[in-house]
Amino acid sequence: METCFTYHEGRLHGEGVALPEIARHVGTPLYCYSASMLENAYKAFSEAFSSVPHMICYAMKANSNQAVLKLLASHGSGMDIVSAGELQRALVAGVRGEQIVFSGVGKTREEIANALDAGILCFNVELEAELLILSELAQAKGLVAPVAIRVNPDVDARTHEKISTGGFKDKFGVPISRAQELYKLAASLPFLEVRGIAMHIGSQITELGPFETAVSRLVDLVHVLRSDGHCLRHIDVGGGLGVSYCEEMQVPFPLPLEDYARMIMRLTSGLGLGLILEPGRLIVAHSGLLLTRVIHSKQGEKKTFIIVDAAMNDLIRPTLYGAYHAIKPVCEVPDSLPWLIADVVGGICESGDFFALDRRVPSLSSGDLVAVMTAGAYGAVQASTYNTRPLIPEVLVRGSCFQVVRPRETCEAIIARDIVPDWLT
Ligand SMILES: *Cc1c(COP(=O)(O)O)cnc(C)c1O
Repeated sequence: METCFTYHEGRLHGEGVALPEIARHVGTPLYCYSASMLENAYKAFSEAFSSVPHMICYAMKANSNQAVLKLLASHGSGMDIVSAGELQRALVAGVRGEQIVFSGVGKTREEIANALDAGILCFNVELEAELLILSELAQAKGLVAPVAIRVNPDVDARTHEKISTGGFKDKFGVPISRAQELYKLAASLPFLEVRGIAMHIGSQITELGPFETAVSRLVDLVHVLRSDGHCLRHIDVGGGLGVSYCEEMQVPFPLPLEDYARMIMRLTSGLGLGLILEPGRLIVAHSGLLLTRVIHSKQGEKKTFIIVDAAMNDLIRPTLYGAYHAIKPVCEVPDSLPWLIADVVGGICESGDFFALDRRVPSLSSGDLVAVMTAGAYGAVQASTYNTRPLIPEVLVRGSCFQVVRPRETCEAIIARDIVPDWLT
């Protein structure tokens, strides 16, 4: 996939807009997304599966800005949701109930009730108790709830431990050995209708092997379930396909999408089941960057620190997952000038507040703009206001235009959320 973040006349652009231009209008730090890259990623994914009936339910927890959701929905995307809040966001963005699947190990009664009211396509259920609650709530509403069982196929996704979800040590899914039992229970409950089977083994997976093992196990299970008399309509293989965060490698996808798609289609095509896919990261990661400005360059005893105006509260991936993000100067620096090894850090009083450690960077000084690349997924959505730092704006670029799609929060708004008890006023 072509990047739309390239240098023109020495300045990094988002599509046709120079990033310094956006910084001048909006201030820093900010998230900048490219509409073309979003569309291209969605289309490439859908294209890869075009030879089989399939439905893409974008895992909106990766980036749930309304503009992003609307854009993807306009291309026909459904949504994978994990909360009532996400349900609401999806509906407001114009996604129809029948395009929504609801995943998650801890759905509350209220969340289930909301999703029943919305007429969603399927509840991906992970435990017995949820089947019982779902049936009870569906009965109360005079409805029949569509369900799939999310099976834990016990594979090692060989990804970061915090984003692995398909091994027996993980809290997710029903152990594959118990799946038959749950299907039996689901079929016995009159207000449930078994629709399919689901899995999701983790995120940022960069090898085909774990997917292949997991899907094969699910396919075997489908045959068993059919011989038990269950009528399945779809197989949901989840998301998890990884992206390359290392721009230097020049490969956007470490695991080629085509290989992934071919494998999934090969294993599932004979089943006569609809295919549901839940990509998140792959759709949005490359289409976003975090634009930040250097406050100081500080020479420590042993290290150089580039201190920027964004911090871990804006993008927590480096410290949470040990994630690598490429760092680019917005104004191109010739390789002939001296580069140095430095830590790129925020201003929060935590040693974990960094974007890059021991990174080769050009010599940057106060006021210079820096882009933290590949920040479109699990960036803005994981931001917090720690240190009373307002949530930063999100900007969507399309061609030569840009628009703020979420304004910078104000400190006043943050403070106004608190309530001082009467006896203190
Ligand atoms: C997070 C999640 C996804 C998306 O994962 P990515 O790695 O972003 O593709 C898909 N399905 C479920 C159930 C998830 O929890």
